[in-house]
Amino acid sequence: MAYAISDECISCGACAAGCPVNAISEGDGKFVIDPDTCTECGACAEVCPVGAPAQA
Ligand code: SF4
Ligand code: SF4
Repeated sequence: MAYAISDECISCGACAAGCPVNAISEGDGKFVIDPDTCTECGACAEVCPVGAPAQA
């Protein structure tokens, strides 16, 4: 399953900058992951300061 970002997201942008396939974009109040683009590499979960990205 692709990764998804929870409501814990504080919109810091670290995950989007680190995603190797540019699957993450800024949404309404939090960042969002395009599940069709995500390769499940886990990089976003590693850099997130609040643990918002998780495998759905
Ligand atoms: Fe991008 Fe990897 Fe996170 Fe998927 S798991 S959104 S490919 S950084
Ligand atoms: Fe949100 Fe975490 Fe991404 Fe920052 S790194 S934008 S807090 S999901």
